[in-house]
Amino acid sequence: MFWDKKTECLSRDEMTHIQETHLKKTTKYIFENVAFYKQKFDKAGLHPDDIKGLEDITRLPFTTKSDLRDNYPYGMCAVPPSHIVRVHASSGTTGKPTPVFYTAQDLENWVNCVTRNCCMAGIRQIDVCQIAFRYTLFTGAFGHHLGAERIGATVIPTSSGQTERQIMMMQDFGTTVLHCTPSYAITIAERIREMGINKNDLSLRLGIHGAEPMSEELRTEIEERLGITALRDYGMTELGGPGTSIECLEKNGYHINEDFFYPEIIDPDTCEPLPDGQTGELVFTLLQKEAMPLIRYRSRDITHLESEPCGCGRTLVRHGPIIGRSDDMLIVGGVNFFPSQLECVMLGFEEIEPHYVIRLKKKKRLDHVLVEVETAPDFWTNAPKKKIAELVQKMETKVKNIIGFSMKIDIVEPFTIPRSEGKAQRVVDERMKK
Ligand code: AMP
Ligand code: ZN
Repeated sequence: MFWDKKTECLSRDEMTHIQETHLKKTTKYIFENVAFYKQKFDKAGLHPDDIKGLEDITRLPFTTKSDLRDNYPYGMCAVPPSHIVRVHASSGTTGKPTPVFYTAQDLENWVNCVTRNCCMAGIRQIDVCQIAFRYTLFTGAFGHHLGAERIGATVIPTSSGQTERQIMMMQDFGTTVLHCTPSYAITIAERIREMGINKNDLSLRLGIHGAEPMSEELRTEIEERLGITALRDYGMTELGGPGTSIECLEKNGYHINEDFFYPEIIDPDTCEPLPDGQTGELVFTLLQKEAMPLIRYRSRDITHLESEPCGCGRTLVRHGPIIGRSDDMLIVGGVNFFPSQLECVMLGFEEIEPHYVIRLKKKKRLDHVLVEVETAPDFWTNAPKKKIAELVQKMETKVKNIIGFSMKIDIVEPFTIPRSEGKAQRVVDERMKK
């Protein structure tokens, strides 16, 4: 189903035309209305008239999270505070939040994007959508809420947490679509099993999961445990929240709402653009924002772009799964890896549960990685010690072969790793501890 078929299926020339028109407008708009950008342009000897087409985008400066922090609270705004109708902020828990602002038109555009995405995921008017993202300054819950509501679905804003109550609502109201982080979906699935509820007695059919990575292996776990189709949804506060991109039912990449979000992939070290298909850092230019337009915003998220036709008929370009963030890539003994790579390897073992913590330690000045992971309760109770030791051995060998260095795997008692209700904390870096 489509919300805005005309835009979602434009020819490349038509989309380019829209993007160029908005890029030129936005460039002029920020030059005239945001002192931060005016100074950047002046310093680079650049004038908005120099931007004649999309190919000129590489002449524009990048914007980073620290630019937003340095200009807290209103420095990046292009409108007076009285024109702002909504504020959200990043989910970081320490220091000042990174805020994002919306005018009435920005809110309307946001609704349009999230509604397109909800339709793309197959949400219909008859659906009952339970929003189990946290309703706070965080954009996730509000964004999904707006999209599902605009379609005319029944929206239940349960927020995250109170898992048993969450499940009771699912039973009583016949929830068909669950919106939450992938790690919270696993927590819910686990509690459903503990409560002795048969997943087939629930009406759930679809999960929309975002705000953190979901490996293919984790997707399969969620789909099997809840008996649903699980789709990935992407967004970030600075871009305005969900609505940037989502997987369609073909599950072959996230379609980007390109008329609002112009994507580029760059080499995070050299900042040079990379061609389609190559993996690097995703950079977005917000083409139609009024309150806080950003150009070439460095997301730090690592993925690639794909422009081959999609089975769903949309021509919107896609990005692949987010394989990690350039700033939370782990470097251990000089070797780089992302927690999501480790997750793929571990969940390839059927005895293993998707509950783990990666601890980085320092011993005799060398980096060590200890991974604490749970097994299925049955396996833990019934398997002889020898079998557990064999499993550890097999996992350590596989991790070494695939990731390239040794990690110590520690199988821990079921239910001892804290369960997530939002974004899971999977990495604990203890290397600086005395
Ligand atoms: P926040 O601004 O708190 O909403 O966090 C945004 C960040 O969450 C992104 O930059 C990504 O690193 C991460 N994120 C959001 N959606 C996804 C997704 N579908 N897959 C992987 N990471 C995601
Ligand atoms: Zn598609």
